[in-house]
Amino acid sequence: LSEQLKRFREPQLARQMLDKVKKSLQELQAHLGYKATFMEFCGTHTAAFSRTGLREELKEDVNLLSGPGCPVCVTADSHIDQVIAYSQLPNVIITTYGDMVKVPGTEKTLQEQKACGSDVRIVYSSLEALEIAKKNSNRPVIFIGVGFETTTPTAAMTLRKAMEEGVNNFYLYSLHKATAPALQALFSTNLPNIDGILLPGHVAIITGRRQWDVITKDYNLQGTIAGFEALDLLIALEDLCSRIQNSSKQVGNAYGRAVQEEGNIIARQAMDHLFELRDGPWRGLGTISQSVYKLKKEYKAYDAEEVFPLPSIPQGKPSPCLCGEILKGLKKPFECPLFAHRCNPIRPQGPCMVSHEGTCAIYYKYERTV
Ligand code: SF4
Repeated sequence: LSEQLKRFREPQLARQMLDKVKKSLQELQAHLGYKATFMEFCGTHTAAFSRTGLREELKEDVNLLSGPGCPVCVTADSHIDQVIAYSQLPNVIITTYGDMVKVPGTEKTLQEQKACGSDVRIVYSSLEALEIAKKNSNRPVIFIGVGFETTTPTAAMTLRKAMEEGVNNFYLYSLHKATAPALQALFSTNLPNIDGILLPGHVAIITGRRQWDVITKDYNLQGTIAGFEALDLLIALEDLCSRIQNSSKQVGNAYGRAVQEEGNIIARQAMDHLFELRDGPWRGLGTISQSVYKLKKEYKAYDAEEVFPLPSIPQGKPSPCLCGEILKGLKKPFECPLFAHRCNPIRPQGPCMVSHEGTCAIYYKYERTV
């Protein structure tokens, strides 16, 4: 670990900061006249609050809600069905991240489809998927790309590499999503009653701080970009309290060691070169305008949706899973009657119990009392 990172994990410093944050939250409560509710947009923050014990430590002073910031969780079940349909095409190899194979579609998971004979391979990166394509040049290899602005640039770079190396059996099915439109959709419709939001540090490394000012300008809501160590979270909470009390005009950056004002311009150029934003469905949030990264028409030779057109699969029948409500911050996992009974990490009934960034999986691991 770098010396700098070690400092952000120092228990002594975190304890001192915890006392300060508790005091600030109590002052905020006096200022608002009620206990504040903050949303952590990002599943990694949800996990960090639970893993560090901060959710428990702060429960008397702030109500913490999870948001839609888990890319696997917001993948619509119709898209899982679509991926399963791709896996049934002759000779096709499907490559994707481990979490994706366990997410239930309407009828089954990709893992169950693999057990039925489809060639589904788990990869840790898009580059690994490209290597599989190179070793299987007589078979189509479809990479199922999932993620926010954090992973979309690497998918873009991988495609560029495939083009440069003349790999012509490699295709992308892009389920990559943009974060800001999701927040705008959330705030425009069923906004849970929140006083501030912690914004995703890793996404902001790419997008920069400035893009998030829309939250303050258009929705009159305070936000702070946060990192992922205990001290990062505490510094961000402190900043958020102060912004709410002072009616700040812009979003704060409590992850300054990684996030710049303009973000990573090279990564954004790589994305913009290959992708364009189109409307697309999000689990729980419905269809969000200009929110899904799809390959531009000039790259259609690499676009699985263009090369292997399938009839679009309608949304499945309603399921008792409450992931949609949880992703909007309207419910907590304990409110789902299936939580820890019919739904658990071995037999997940919804994506929020699958991904390590999923709220239900995190609550199952850290917050259960029985
Ligand atoms: Fe869905 Fe399972 Fe979470 Fe309930 S506990 S909301 S069924 S993932």
